[in-house]
Amino acid sequence: MPKRSECSSCSFLFICVAPFLARGNPLIMLTKAEIVHKAVQIGFDDIGFTGIEPFASQLDLLKQRQGSYDWVERRGLALRQGTDPGTVMPDGKTLVVLISVYYRQGYPDYMEGHFGRCYLDDDRITKDGLALQIKAFRRFLGDHGVASKLAPNLPHRLAAARAGLGTFGKNCLFFSRKAARQSSFVLPIAMVVDRCFAPDPPTVAVGCPDWCRNACIAACPTRALKGPCHIEPRRCISYLSYYGEGMTPLELREPMGLYVYGCDRCQNVCPRNAARLAEPLPMNAKVAAKEPDFQLERLLRMDKAYFETKIWPHMFYMPADDLWRWQMNAARAMGNTRDPKYIDDLTAACKENADEKVRAMAAWALGRIGGGPARTALEALKLGADGVFLQEIESALDGFALSGGSV
Ligand code: SF4
Ligand code: SF4
Repeated sequence: MPKRSECSSCSFLFICVAPFLARGNPLIMLTKAEIVHKAVQIGFDDIGFTGIEPFASQLDLLKQRQGSYDWVERRGLALRQGTDPGTVMPDGKTLVVLISVYYRQGYPDYMEGHFGRCYLDDDRITKDGLALQIKAFRRFLGDHGVASKLAPNLPHRLAAARAGLGTFGKNCLFFSRKAARQSSFVLPIAMVVDRCFAPDPPTVAVGCPDWCRNACIAACPTRALKGPCHIEPRRCISYLSYYGEGMTPLELREPMGLYVYGCDRCQNVCPRNAARLAEPLPMNAKVAAKEPDFQLERLLRMDKAYFETKIWPHMFYMPADDLWRWQMNAARAMGNTRDPKYIDDLTAACKENADEKVRAMAAWALGRIGGGPARTALEALKLGADGVFLQEIESALDGFALSGGSV
């Protein structure tokens, strides 16, 4: 006999027989408790339930900040449509939200210094980690007659908060109520299911302590955080590193610092993350093994084949046709290390790279590193240079002159 189930869109308990009629003969109707148990058994860190009513506040925000988010829609992610989970599955009844910690193990300092943590063990292409867990969870649901559908355009963080799984920070990130020491190093994964389950009490609120003086906003190097809970995504280093238009503007090169892909500054300074950041974590062996492939000099001088085999399967937002962007980011990061060990690689890139933007950024980086050998290299490169590349060389050499040759 089916058990009693609770429907989030009804105000009473009822005996739901629809899945039995629709799907034949699942032996037992799943309860929330059984789903929660299975999610934990598979390895998820938390799970919550909420109804599929539209996220009206999110739609309003997207309309108000249309200019800030249009690029997402142009890239094929229908954010506005995703605010109505009913569009994902017409007979959907409930949103189930899973929480997965992406900072479960430690990462090499080098990797954390140049790449956002959430990308370091991203298996969306390799499908050998989180993807297997999601698959196992959905198979479990399916085996019990519950259809589920994932959609990347759902407002996953807001769904997590509506499912009672945590609160927001003024840096616009989602903080777990219990996973990873209540930090923001978590991925919420919302999916629509065609079964009614009682919603959990929502926790849609900002959970920052009063005493924090907006450390995240002050720390954001590119001023992408315009105020509490207000981000201009197109100024975020994450966006700039993989979607920024053309050559990185001069005024952003130093603020973007050492990051090549992504950014964690507003998470690193957040006191809500301090407990997790202080926790001794075992090293992630998979990411440690990737470290040699992600050295800046290798990124700067890689070819398409190297990119496609070593880099793209792990960080895939930029296609092979955008190799120049990876190389430009690597050159800019090298300059910001101010480490003379990169002079030879940058000089070689100035001579060999086919893309003017990469050559120009390498010239800028030589100027940023400074010192006699960099100056000598730039003077030699000036002979025969033209266009933007020449402008960057001259600007770098002007920098030497202004500083009396001390840079
Ligand atoms: S990720 Fe970096 S650039 Fe983006 S908002 Fe946070 S601190 Fe600013
Ligand atoms: S740094 Fe402070 S204001 Fe920003 S998210 Fe963390 S606790 Fe909130």
